[in-house]
Amino acid sequence: MKVIDKIREVSKENNGNKVVFSFEFFPPRKQEVVENFFERMERMVAHNPTFCDITWGAGGSTADLTLDIANRMQNKVCVETMMHLTCTNMPVEKIDHALDTIKSNGVQNVLALRGDPPRGQDKFVPVEGGFSCALDLVKHMREKYGDYFGITVAGYPEAHPDVIPASGVATAEAYNNDLAYLKKKVDAGADLIITQLFYDTDCFLKFVNDCRQIGITCPIVPGIMPIKDYRGFVRWTGVCKTKVPPEVMAALEPIKDNEEAIRAYGIHLGTEMCKKIMASGIKTLHLYTLNNEKSALAILMNLGLIEESRVSRSLPCVKEDVLSAPKTKDANQANQNTHGNGN
Ligand code: FAD
Repeated sequence: MKVIDKIREVSKENNGNKVVFSFEFFPPRKQEVVENFFERMERMVAHNPTFCDITWGAGGSTADLTLDIANRMQNKVCVETMMHLTCTNMPVEKIDHALDTIKSNGVQNVLALRGDPPRGQDKFVPVEGGFSCALDLVKHMREKYGDYFGITVAGYPEAHPDVIPASGVATAEAYNNDLAYLKKKVDAGADLIITQLFYDTDCFLKFVNDCRQIGITCPIVPGIMPIKDYRGFVRWTGVCKTKVPPEVMAALEPIKDNEEAIRAYGIHLGTEMCKKIMASGIKTLHLYTLNNEKSALAILMNLGLIEESRVSRSLPCVKEDVLSAPKTKDANQANQNTHGNGN
């Protein structure tokens, strides 16, 4: 089922007040931990996320593994699955191979992305016979696969990092160009937007409002990344050029060497951000789990969206016939983290 249809259907519950949530995972680096990864995912899926997504390693580094995992998520874990797909190092034949594979496995949702430039390159240059941006990929998917796929695209509340100067914010012109381009992706056939991580909730809410002003009407799902450790937080916000509100930095500085305190603060901050987002009327939350269950589930429990003791579905429900996709050749190729960019 398409995620957009599922969101629409589920949000009607509770007099239209039902809040839905989803979890992002990335393919584990080592084959030895794959089973462990699925056990954790199954525990999380027991809390009934609307969907779960699996990233596509930077430059296609996890292509086989991501395809395998997407198949297993959809058909063994039995969760509505969204697979990320990027254009980096992907001539159209490889794109079509990936799309044909998931289609034959019943996976109906794709997060269509341009991807980052291959390692060692500053600028994104399309591979020969490949696409130069996510818009091209969305157009191609609609042209070739019609209405089969639910297509999600990335949105950037602070504009794409390419147009954010090293220290500062995007100009109004760059931000508006980014928005106009996002609208093109939606007009070309995307039916959902998931955002880049952010820690300034007002900035996200302004972004949603700005999108509405230019006629983007599809759901805009906030990407929430709970802070788990200080170094990771600094690295990620640096890579993504994410604005960190001064009060967040001030809260983190004195506890930066205390992992437990950082994690607790991350849960507190994530909870408060989600409360504010929900108070604005937005009823979809997307959690970047970094393959960890604790912070994501703690936030959802704080919000009253799940109960730890209530496992609401039995697992697994295996559909053996669709689990015959070839195993990945080299799972150790897996070389990515969330958003697949190897950081
Ligand atoms: P695009 O939407 O193509 O845009 C990139 C930039 O170029 C924007 O500034 C846009 O305005 C500009 N641009 C491009 N084409 C045009 C045009 N025709 N006209 C005007 N402006 C244009 N990376 C991975 O490798 N694997 C993942 O699994 C992954 N998952 C992600 C999930 C989310 C939710 C997000 C937010 C990012 C993810 N990324 C992932 C990172 C992503 O690949 C990078 O941010 C990449 O640099 C841009 O991809 P995009 O699809 O946003 O690009």
